Amino acid sequence: MTVPRPESLRRPAATPMPLMARLRTALLALLMLPVCSWSAPDKRIVITIDDLPFASATPMTVPEAARLNEALLRTLQRHQAPAIGFVNEDRLLVPGQIDRGVAILDAWLDAGMALGNHNFGHLGLWTSSVAEVQAAVLRGEVFTRWLTTRRGAPLRYYRPPFTQTGRTEADRLAFETFLQAHGYTLAPFTVEHDDYLFACVYDHLDGTDAAATRQIVEDEYDAHLRRAVAVFESMSAQLFERQIPQIWLIHANRLNADTLDRSLTTLRSLGYRFISLDEALQDEAYRTPALASGKFGPSWLARWARSKGVKLSVYGQPDPDGQTAALHREHCGR
Ligand SMILES: [Zn+2]
Repeated sequence: MTVPRPESLRRPAATPMPLMARLRTALLALLMLPVCSWSAPDKRIVITIDDLPFASATPMTVPEAARLNEALLRTLQRHQAPAIGFVNEDRLLVPGQIDRGVAILDAWLDAGMALGNHNFGHLGLWTSSVAEVQAAVLRGEVFTRWLTTRRGAPLRYYRPPFTQTGRTEADRLAFETFLQAHGYTLAPFTVEHDDYLFACVYDHLDGTDAAATRQIVEDEYDAHLRRAVAVFESMSAQLFERQIPQIWLIHANRLNADTLDRSLTTLRSLGYRFISLDEALQDEAYRTPALASGKFGPSWLARWARSKGVKLSVYGQPDPDGQTAALHREHCGR
């Protein structure tokens, strides 16, 4: 025996809908579908490039560094992507070529990008004391502050080398108080994908099979970016139940000069749009406390998990494997 459902008892008898009205309703439902069930999250990412004017495992001349930065800037502009470059001013002090080095930084500002301080000598808060790193911050801001001030833009951001924020909480607090007193905001990061490792292999490419190997390294580098982004998205979802604006950390090296276009295209294909550091830091996620890094400077997503006492299923991207990892062991000694 079939028991009538209560709602069918309440529902008035349906009158047949005219054909055109039925078609209109079906069409409307179809149009609504992408909005209701396929709407992608608004994924945003900041591009931050460390170690200006260049990072290299092999010697690099100032003219080569200038070409490398021009390539980065051309790609950023083509993608209409704002970026911030963090400067190690000690690398500008090449006798007879300081003007050319400073011109590299000026080109960043000409291109509409921002500059930040990465300190003089790339001193980290693990092997150097708070006082030593504070001195390196002030010593490392001379040209950059002069260039930004001339354009009426304050120098506001500091990226700590090795992304170390202190051996202890006391160190972290003392250093952050120092930064605030000098008008700096600490620039965190949330996404990285071992670009220094791929770059070291890339810097050592030579010989007859260099072109073929270069292609393999570039392909593995792109695959590793996709893997890393997926992991950091998962960490964001586990911590905040949404996709926070991510901050991507890469370096001013030969590899990125040649592959930034591909990386940005990949990020776009993953649904990202590019935003400024100012915009990202307005998100409340970045007000989450982060404890002192200690020796290793992981993604801020891992630091937030620690300070919140949240256990995550992943804490960062897997180690690179494949041919690049083997070449890295061979050429770069690890
Ligand atoms: Zn660095």
